[in-house]
Amino acid sequence: MSRTKLSKYKIATLGTHSALQILKGAKDEGFSTIVICKKGHEEPYKLYNVADEIILIDDYKDLIDLQDDLIKKNVILIPHASYISYIGYEAVEKLKVNYFGNKGILKWESDRNEERKWLEKSGLKLPKLFHSPDDIDRPVIVKFHGASGGKGYFLAKSKWDFNKKFKPYKGNQDYVIQEYIIGVPMFIHYFYSPLTDELEIMGFDKRYESNVDSLGRISARDQIALEKVDPSYVIVGNLPIVVRESYLPKMLKMGRDVVEQSKKLASPKGLFGPFCLEAVLTPEEEIYVFEISARIVAGTNPYINGSPYTWLKYDEPMSTGKRIAREIKNAILNNQLDKVLG
Ligand code: AMP
Repeated sequence: MSRTKLSKYKIATLGTHSALQILKGAKDEGFSTIVICKKGHEEPYKLYNVADEIILIDDYKDLIDLQDDLIKKNVILIPHASYISYIGYEAVEKLKVNYFGNKGILKWESDRNEERKWLEKSGLKLPKLFHSPDDIDRPVIVKFHGASGGKGYFLAKSKWDFNKKFKPYKGNQDYVIQEYIIGVPMFIHYFYSPLTDELEIMGFDKRYESNVDSLGRISARDQIALEKVDPSYVIVGNLPIVVRESYLPKMLKMGRDVVEQSKKLASPKGLFGPFCLEAVLTPEEEIYVFEISARIVAGTNPYINGSPYTWLKYDEPMSTGKRIAREIKNAILNNQLDKVLG
């Protein structure tokens, strides 16, 4: 009975970012799967045998023209970060194919100012923003919007330092000056179920960023000798972390507060499914959040076989990809699919 109900649907996603995990999870839950791949990028999906069908496209934006075909196949699309970066949030908002998640939350996540309002209203601690370089009174990180994955960010300690380092970017007004929090970066992976109203922590990761994560291998003396070694934050991978257990109550509360606030902003459904708070933890045990991702993050990829936290809860391998498929499956079996599509 449940097999027949599930067999009416196919799970699909774009072949990049966390597609291996999403598709493997969907197959493990009994769905047939489709990967929509840029030509030349299909080999991993064949090698790891996660897709029952591979659709090849020239450009990620071609997903928009594929929609009628996907609708005929009764596809449920699982979004990940590449949808927004390669197709753009307005186009994603307009997708007609069944979509796991609430598209109403995308505008809150995609606009830096709206995102900040959301996080502030949720009561989270955020790095201070400086509206003008004249106000810089502490270490800051200068982030350019749309900077390709953290390239071109720079650190500054004063207005003078800012003006010197800003020279190559003169004319570019699309940046923020954010207090640089000295601590350790940590990405908290959550999953909120609209079916059971339960919030879970799925795991944690830290990003492995080039070149900032290797600057420590070059002594300060040699960095000066090499002259222009500016830090960049280009992500190349993710490393798993287990957090000090006493942080968990606070982190769970932070996640719940973000979900509750989202129900007011993108009512009535708010944010559901996987999401991530991107944080820096200080020696004073403060947790500063500098960004939210309102969907699966690549930092969950180390946990295809489950994380310590999902092992505690499920006693079976449970990745975030599989958790998404489980939620869809439960929704289908209980005739509540509308609760997880948006
Ligand atoms: P983002 O592009 O905003 O995700 O930032 C890239 C990287 O810069 C993060 O992974 C952190 O390592 C670091 N970072 C971003 N914002 C801050 C901040 N306010 N304080 C300290 N580190 C930060």
